[in-house]
Amino acid sequence: MTQRINGEGKSAVPLNALLSDIDNILCRVKSPFPLNFLSKIEFRADGCWMWKGAFGFHPRHRQHRYGEFKVLNPLTNKRHSTTAHRFAYQCVHGPVARSLDIDHLCGNKLCVNPEHLEAVTHRENIQRMYDRRAK
Ligand SMILES: [Zn+2]
Repeated sequence: MTQRINGEGKSAVPLNALLSDIDNILCRVKSPFPLNFLSKIEFRADGCWMWKGAFGFHPRHRQHRYGEFKVLNPLTNKRHSTTAHRFAYQCVHGPVARSLDIDHLCGNKLCVNPEHLEAVTHRENIQRMYDRRAK
């Protein structure tokens, strides 16, 4: 797994603190992050985990591009696509109903840090989008 610490912007967080942060999250996961998932993340000093892998269109918000990750379904032995941030969230919090959106609390659409994500209803997600724009 490659770790790149972004030197720009808010880099006041010491490397040790950042790594123990990542460690704290990883030790709580329900299903381990696969190595081919972790290797596509740039762990930034501001706490955001920036997705560096493939992109796709979000199934519900066609205008937004999201990180895309292909997961192998062990039952069917077929790979299916999911959004990278939903995958990360589910690794830590367990399965989330398809009807729920995963909102980015940090506003960074390419961030896959489970601590920056929250499962909300589509209505709530849209409301938050308007609230953030109004600010
Ligand atoms: Zn973030």
